[in-house]
Amino acid sequence: MKFVLASRNPKKIAELRTLLSAHLHDAEVLSLDDVGILGEIEENGATFEENALIKARAAATSGYIGLGDDSGLCVDALNGEPGIYSARYAARTSALTDHSDEENNRVLLEKLNGRSPEERTASFVCCFACVFPDGREFTVRGEAKGRILSAYCGDGGFGYDPLFFYEPLGKTFAQLTPAEKNRISHRARALEAFAKALVEEDPA
Ligand code: IMP
Repeated sequence: MKFVLASRNPKKIAELRTLLSAHLHDAEVLSLDDVGILGEIEENGATFEENALIKARAAATSGYIGLGDDSGLCVDALNGEPGIYSARYAARTSALTDHSDEENNRVLLEKLNGRSPEERTASFVCCFACVFPDGREFTVRGEAKGRILSAYCGDGGFGYDPLFFYEPLGKTFAQLTPAEKNRISHRARALEAFAKALVEEDPA
């Protein structure tokens, strides 16, 4: 069974290959480059699901099963921000043109300034979309719930990890080993749901 993941990121492709092979012995995961799909895919959806579907549909034009993903951080007190804008939060909410992880984190801290720990609840969300060549589609979602600290803690991971405190392990995502994070992260949960849904959808 051949899949095209709407990504050019070798780490994402390797991760999906590993996960799918645990569930499907004949899974082959290709990248957009492998199938000659060039150019940027415009992510103009209003939700994680819509963006994941836009990417998966583009990948499915290859004639193989198309896969797309989208993820981000949703903070309850900020009405779900940064949400689908997580990667470019600083650029969206200020005059900053830079949207490095550091700038995004700084903007998030500013927005939550003065909020109590109880008001700093948040979720990391990851959606996967799957589009079959015959037009069937489905999406799945994985979430990890935590709290945004008022200062950085830990230096592993990426993005908002140093600010995201995960109560069950008593650590931020940036303090977890990659193996620990891969067991409980939003992405791990979405991938698990994805593999399950795929087997139900196409058991062959
Ligand atoms: P992507 O859709 O996987 O490229 O993620 C979009 C953005 O969401 C990233 O640039 C990060 O800002 C944020 N994000 C998603 N997953 C994580 C995570 O596991 N840790 C920290 N930040 C994340």
